[in-house]
Amino acid sequence: MHKKGCSKSVCQCFIVPNYILENMALNDVEAARVSLAKSRQMRRRRIFKEYDIKGVTALTDAGSGRHGESARHVYDCKGGTKLRVNEARKEGDRSSGDHVVNQAYDYSGVVRDYFKEVLHRNSMDNEGLDLILNVHYGNKFTNAYWDGDEMVFGDGDGIIFSNFADSLDVIGHELTHGVTQFTSGLEYEGQSGALNEHLSDVFGVTIKQYHLKQTAADADWLIGADIMGPTLKGQALRSMKAPGTAFDNKLMGKDLQPDHMRNFYKGERDNHGVHINSGIPNKAFYLVSMEIGTDKAALIWFDAMQNLFATANFNQFVQVVIKAAQKLADGGTVPHTAIKTIEDAFKAVGLPE
Ligand SMILES: [Zn+2]
Ligand SMILES: [Zn+2]
Repeated sequence: MHKKGCSKSVCQCFIVPNYILENMALNDVEAARVSLAKSRQMRRRRIFKEYDIKGVTALTDAGSGRHGESARHVYDCKGGTKLRVNEARKEGDRSSGDHVVNQAYDYSGVVRDYFKEVLHRNSMDNEGLDLILNVHYGNKFTNAYWDGDEMVFGDGDGIIFSNFADSLDVIGHELTHGVTQFTSGLEYEGQSGALNEHLSDVFGVTIKQYHLKQTAADADWLIGADIMGPTLKGQALRSMKAPGTAFDNKLMGKDLQPDHMRNFYKGERDNHGVHINSGIPNKAFYLVSMEIGTDKAALIWFDAMQNLFATANFNQFVQVVIKAAQKLADGGTVPHTAIKTIEDAFKAVGLPE
């Protein structure tokens, strides 16, 4: 089954799922209504763009860096919707006068360096793909997304959501969609789509913990806590530690994420629950990290990520993760006890079925 204008391997992955924005629009949040309309427009336009992306990633190699070396390019949309127009800061440039430009530049650098230094991956495609970041997109646009070869950030409405570039876990999440696209290409639908979302959440929080030098026990395990505006401070988009508890308010509705297969979401919304059922593997990753440390868990998950295939389901994912743990344990990178820890963590969320 295939829906909503994303190809099998390349998806427009928004950080705020539509079902949340729809709830906000029903509650008369004008910015949410406008953002939803904008997203629909972009999806339609997107169909044409995909032909460009496939095979023509050179398109993104916008210059400056040496070949094979990923360079950052931050563009300022200045409230408009044209991408890659006004370059505000490129690799090596001094700090800009614009805080948002600098945040996008710095955080994307943190993500790129994490993949390179810790996971030995050279940018999203492992060939030094440039990082293109468009900030100040649209008027009060309440979302951020990865679009196959670039990122786009809205400023938020300043009330419910603040600026989307102001969050390391959001940028880590979105850029990890790029890594998934260039590795397994997990289809953005149903269980494979929930795994796609899961992996983005995993590296979003892992990179944040690494950057802040936090342990699994210190960390908040939230996605998007930094982008909540004054009205909803203290809430977030997702919680890996306690899926289903990230938000509960009139504007956004209630967090629908399950933390166990018994509550698996079977409805049609959200591409059959890609941002909803990701709560199940998210909880398992949290449990594993609490036992063996987030850094070791991330090494196992990253190995698994490269051995997945586009239609993988939850059961198959469990197998691939255990195989990755076995391999890394044999190589001495993680303790042998990690295998049992992973089996127990998945069992705790009802997997395999
Ligand atoms: Zn799709
Ligand atoms: Zn996502």
